[in-house]
Amino acid sequence: MSTMRAPAVADLDPRLIAGATLPELLTVVTDHDAPTDGTCPGCGWRTGRGQRVCPSRALARAVRERRPVPAWLLHLVDAVPGAFAPTPVDQAAERAAQDALPGLFDAPPRRTPGRAA
Ligand SMILES: [Zn+2]
Repeated sequence: MSTMRAPAVADLDPRLIAGATLPELLTVVTDHDAPTDGTCPGCGWRTGRGQRVCPSRALARAVRERRPVPAWLLHLVDAVPGAFAPTPVDQAAERAAQDALPGLFDAPPRRTPGRAA
């Protein structure tokens, strides 16, 4: 069992660092199409165990779709032209959406001490 290490700039596809055009980004996405549990054919990144995409593919997708980069790649945001971190507004909206989701269980009824239920 290997320990998950944080991806470094050296792990990224050089096209991402050079500032890829939209068609190039699509090529990066397809070149780094790793099997769900295995090794990325584009960069050798070990995928699986909850991490389904390699850093290059995740960043190429984020830049292409103009979405903020995923949290696990935030430290690489400055190395990739076009990549950006989520703004506090994005995070607040995400948190509000999560808070609005119904819970798995109802909260237990409050009991007032000293009073029989
Ligand atoms: Zn890859």
